[in-house]
Amino acid sequence: MRVIWDDALVSYDFGPGHPLAPVRVELTMALARDLGVLGGVELAGCAPATDDELALVHKRDYIEAVKTASRTGRPDLRHGLGTEDNPTFTGMHAAAALVTGATLEAARTVWRGEAEHAVNVAGGLHHAMTAAASGFCVYNDPAVAIAWLLAQGASRVAYVDIDVHHGDGVQAMFYDDPRVLTISLHESPRTLFPGTGLPQETGAEGSAVNVALPAGCGDAGWLRAFHAVVPPLLREFAPEVLVTQQGCDSHALDPLANLMLSVDGQRTAYAALHRLAHETAGGRWIAVGGGGYELVRVVPRTWTHLIAEVAGAPLDPRTGTPQSWRTLVAERTGETAPLTMTDGRDPSWREISEGYDPADAIDRAIMATRNAVFPLHGLDPLP
Ligand SMILES: [Zn+2]
Ligand SMILES: [Zn+2]
Repeated sequence: MRVIWDDALVSYDFGPGHPLAPVRVELTMALARDLGVLGGVELAGCAPATDDELALVHKRDYIEAVKTASRTGRPDLRHGLGTEDNPTFTGMHAAAALVTGATLEAARTVWRGEAEHAVNVAGGLHHAMTAAASGFCVYNDPAVAIAWLLAQGASRVAYVDIDVHHGDGVQAMFYDDPRVLTISLHESPRTLFPGTGLPQETGAEGSAVNVALPAGCGDAGWLRAFHAVVPPLLREFAPEVLVTQQGCDSHALDPLANLMLSVDGQRTAYAALHRLAHETAGGRWIAVGGGGYELVRVVPRTWTHLIAEVAGAPLDPRTGTPQSWRTLVAERTGETAPLTMTDGRDPSWREISEGYDPADAIDRAIMATRNAVFPLHGLDPLP
């Protein structure tokens, strides 16, 4: 496997006070390094995505607008630039193009067979639209990577998005394209940005799949929903490549959303995605980061688990965090770092095939999704 990294990826920085603070990926890579997770893996750099690569999904006039805003700092509200969520900053185009370049490098690595899996924790900017920035996302790196794979001749790409927010940008860009199956598990749009992602959004022939979970859903309910929806669809679709977005803002401590997962539930999901990559996609797996705004207790630990999982050497959750890393956390954030790699939760769940409860909000969400899309894939919605 290959980890794509360049120190300049931290230049994707909307400035002080913005939730998407680049210290989160800096502390992730530091924790992975200090724990020895990067010891056995191949680290590779990357180049910024070119205009032609960005134009695989973005409008040329939008790319020009980003370049202008990143030079002048002036807002361009027609393109979503200069809002509270997406403030302009000097060098914004270069920084966003580098994030996309890192995910593209992961896609090239896997498509050319140089490694089975590749990961870019700085990627996963899934809200960016064809001609507008949205939700802290300037360029949509997972969508550019998927479009690049299609341009290389891939005919079936699956995208699984487990960020707490709906993967609306990626869904929109491939909504009518049956070559791309997008599956997003997220907090219900009734209570969370971006306000889309209902099960009724099914795309072309069921190519868009949405699981809208109620606020408060924790590990057991989330994993139950994941296993009730994702494995059967991936088995049926049989992708040539699996692209996954691992936003970790589903954690209970995340300040922007209302699901209640633990690091243990999240690492269990990563292990499931890894198994599914081998079982359904010939092992071709491109993993990216995403949202996640608890910068010290959540993002570094969960994405270090992700890198370890992609590397095929998952960490014992009882592993302690290194003193060197805890010192760095104190220096960089003034906060106290967690002592171990676990939240102490048992990430077990019950399969829906053991029976479901129509009065339970999570089971209702699961069944709404299965009823909306399973028949379009020749699958029986009833467990
Ligand atoms: Zn998110
Ligand atoms: Zn593997």
